[in-house]
Amino acid sequence: MLELTDVSAGYGETAVLADVSLWVPPRSVVALLGANGAGKTTLLRVASGLLKPSAGRMSLDGTDVTGKAPHVLANRGVCHVPEGRGIFPTLTVRDNLIIQAGDGNADDAVERAVSAFPILGEKLSQLAGSLSGGQQQMLSLSRAYVTDPSYVLLDEVSMGLAPVVVDEIFESLATLAAQGRALLLVEQYVTRALDLADYVYLLARGRIEFAGEPGELDAERLMARYMGGT
Ligand code: ATP
Repeated sequence: MLELTDVSAGYGETAVLADVSLWVPPRSVVALLGANGAGKTTLLRVASGLLKPSAGRMSLDGTDVTGKAPHVLANRGVCHVPEGRGIFPTLTVRDNLIIQAGDGNADDAVERAVSAFPILGEKLSQLAGSLSGGQQQMLSLSRAYVTDPSYVLLDEVSMGLAPVVVDEIFESLATLAAQGRALLLVEQYVTRALDLADYVYLLARGRIEFAGEPGELDAERLMARYMGGT
């Protein structure tokens, strides 16, 4: 279980999260929804150790990991697929995969990524920046396949992609879930996220406003209120 308890966090004087408690059980899919600026990215940054909480606790499979560095959490099975892809555009696809693998075996990393996203196998020696947007997102998502994580934090991984590519991305999320990874999913495609989710949290102005099963949420009202009606 990835567990945040009464977490507050922000940037300098700016408080963003206030008393947020959230659970991601092993092998579950948890959707984190909320309007722009609600604090979703900030929460994922806390959960991966990129941002230290100003108050509250975080634990991982029963061990307190509050304030631990990103590499410590990564070694304990937390994988963050960041907003904006987080790949190195001037390096080849193969080198990006090797970097994602960290201390892991490079050939193994490439093999896992290619079996998840076969198109990447045809592009291994191309610069990552020359890939299409969808392929770049697949490369970014590859880190969840190459590092064997227990918990995957996904920040708007379908953002700005053509509908057919969004379908592929969501299929790969379902595959990750079927492999037994727990997913904490920040998504603009609310309905699709709810289809996949076992549990949903609604964040509004840095506070958890709703926590429950997707069936307890009225999706239309949710969209009208939090997503500007789109
Ligand atoms: P979005 O969907 O727009 O990414 P979000 O729910 O992910 O929204 P956050 O990115 O977590 O929201 O931002 C929450 C608040 O924190 C916003 O008011 C934002 O302006 C502020 N913020 C985010 N990053 C920083 C930063 N590095 N320095 C200062 N303020 C920041």
